[in-house]
Amino acid sequence: MYDIIIVGAGPAGMTAAIYARRAAKSVMVLEAVNYGGQILNTPDIENYPAEAHISGFDFSTKLYEQAKGLGAQFVFEKAVGIKDVNGKKTVVTVKNSYEAGAVILATGSANRKLGLEDEDRLVGKGVSYCATCDGNFYRKKVVAVVGGGNTALEDALYLSDIAEKVYLIHRRDNFRGEEANVSRLTEKNNVEFIYNSNVTRLISDKRLRAIEITNKLDGSVRTLELSGLFVAVGRVPENRNFADLVRLDDAGYVEAGEDCHTSCEGIFVAGDNRTKTLRQLVTAAADGAMAATEAVKYLNNI
Ligand code: NAP
Repeated sequence: MYDIIIVGAGPAGMTAAIYARRAAKSVMVLEAVNYGGQILNTPDIENYPAEAHISGFDFSTKLYEQAKGLGAQFVFEKAVGIKDVNGKKTVVTVKNSYEAGAVILATGSANRKLGLEDEDRLVGKGVSYCATCDGNFYRKKVVAVVGGGNTALEDALYLSDIAEKVYLIHRRDNFRGEEANVSRLTEKNNVEFIYNSNVTRLISDKRLRAIEITNKLDGSVRTLELSGLFVAVGRVPENRNFADLVRLDDAGYVEAGEDCHTSCEGIFVAGDNRTKTLRQLVTAAADGAMAATEAVKYLNNI
C-alpha cells in the first residue's frame, strides 16, 4: 500500500514524485517503457528555465536520479487499469496490482500515425517516429519529415546535419512550431520545404523506397525517392485504460483544470494527457508539482 501511485515517469510524473516525497508520502512510480517519456527524443532543450542547453536524455536522467534519491520507488510495469473501491485505489499492471490512497495519471501521449497502408510493417524499415533514435541510420541518405509542429521542425534540423537531403512536408503553408526553428531551417541548403501536401502512399519492397505526396490545392501527385520517412504529426493521449473511471474530452484528454483534479476523487492528472492549452516541458513539470500537492492535501483530509 502506497500513499501515492504515479502512473508515468515523464517530466510530469517524476516532478510529482519529487513533490510527494518531499511531503513525506510513500510513492511508487509505474512506467511502461523508460523514464523520461517524450522529452527523451529531444536532442537539445533550449526553453527550460535556467538550462540554456540540455539533452532530453540528460534532463530525464537528472530528474530520475533526483526523484529516486528522494525515495520514490520506480517499477517498470505497464498500468492497464485502476479500480476505485470505497476510495481505495488499486492500480492493475500487466503483472501485479498495487494499492494506493491517491493516484496521479501522468501517462503523456503516444505518436500519432499517418494511417497509411504498410505504415506499421515499415517501422524500422524506413518509417520512424523518432529522429534522434534512428537518424544515424540515414547518414548521407535522402529522408523526409512530415508534420508542422516543433517536433517536425526539430527533427528536420537534426536530420539536416546527418542526411544528404531532407524534405519537410507539411499539410498547410505555415508552421505551427516556433519561428526560431523555421528560420534556422531556411538557412540549411539541404532542406526542401513542401507545403500544402499530404503523404498519400508508401512505396516499398522489403523497405521503404519512395513516398507519394499529393498537393491539397491542385491535386497534383509527386513521387519522392528516399530511404527514410520521419513521421512527426503530433501525439495522442494515453488515457484509454482509465476511461471508465475519469472523464475524457472528445480528443481523449483527461478533463481537468489547473488544479489537476479529475472527475474521480483521489485521482489526479499531470502533463500532456490532460486538457490544457500549452503542452511543454515546463508546464508538465508545473502540473507534476500541482498534482502532487493536491494529492497530498487530499490524503491529509481523508
Ligand atoms: P503538434 O504541435 O500537435 O503538431 C503536429 C503537426 O502535425 C501539426 O503541424 C499538424 O498539422 C500535423 N498533423 C497532424 N495530423 C496530421 C496528419 N494526419 N497528416 C499530416 N500532418 C498532420 O505536435 P508536436 O510537434 O509533436 O508537438 C507536441 C507538443 O510538444 C507541442 O506543444 C510542441 O510545442 C511541444 N514540443 C516542444 C518542444 C520544445 O519545447 N523543445 C519540442 C517538441 C515538441 P496542422 O498544423 O495543420 O494542425
